[in-house]
Amino acid sequence: MKFEMPILPYEKNALAPVISEETVNFHWGKHVQAYVNNLNNLLPNTPFERASLEEIIKKAEGGIFNNAAQVWNHTFYFHSFTPKGGSRPTGDLLQAINAAFGNFDEFKKQFVADGASIFGSGWVWLVKDADKKLSIVKAPNAENPLRNGFTPLLTFDVWEHAYYLDYQNRRPDHLNSLWVIINWDIINERFLK
Ligand code: MN
Repeated sequence: MKFEMPILPYEKNALAPVISEETVNFHWGKHVQAYVNNLNNLLPNTPFERASLEEIIKKAEGGIFNNAAQVWNHTFYFHSFTPKGGSRPTGDLLQAINAAFGNFDEFKKQFVADGASIFGSGWVWLVKDADKKLSIVKAPNAENPLRNGFTPLLTFDVWEHAYYLDYQNRRPDHLNSLWVIINWDIINERFLK
C-alpha cells in the first residue's frame, strides 16, 4: 500500500501564534513528509506491503514501525487542533477526566508535567482503556499506545522539532500554550467511539 501525505484541516498559518506558520512548514511539510516517504520506500517486499497503518503500528518493529507510527501520530496530533479552539471538555468526557484526575485543571497540569519530563524525544498521550477509564502515557520516540491495547484521545509531540523554532528550549511553555487550540469536539468523538 502506498501511503499518501494527509491533508491539513486548516491553513498553515491558522494556529499562529501558538504554533507558527514556519513551524508548521517544517514540522508538517518536511518532517511528516519524510516519514511518509521513508515508509513507502521501506514497505515493498515486506510482510507489511498491503497492511493498514494501524496493522503496521501494532506488529512492525524497527524502521517500518518508527516511520508508520510517526505518520499516524502526527496526523492524529495535527487533527486535534483548530484555530477556533479554546473550548473545554464536556459531558461524559469531562466526567471521565474528573474521575481520573480530579478536575480539568489538574489533568492539564499533569499532562504538561508528564510531557515536560520525557527525556529526549517522544509523545505524551491521553488514552482510554476498554472500560473508558482515562490515563496518561509517557512514550519515547515514535511509541504509540495502540500497541498496548489503549485508544488514544489526545497527544502532545515533545520532539524538539515540534517547538524549537517558536519556543527554543522552553518545552513546558510550548505544552502549556497548546490548550487554546485543542478541538475538544474531536477529542469527545474519539472518547465516545
Ligand atoms: Mn513531530
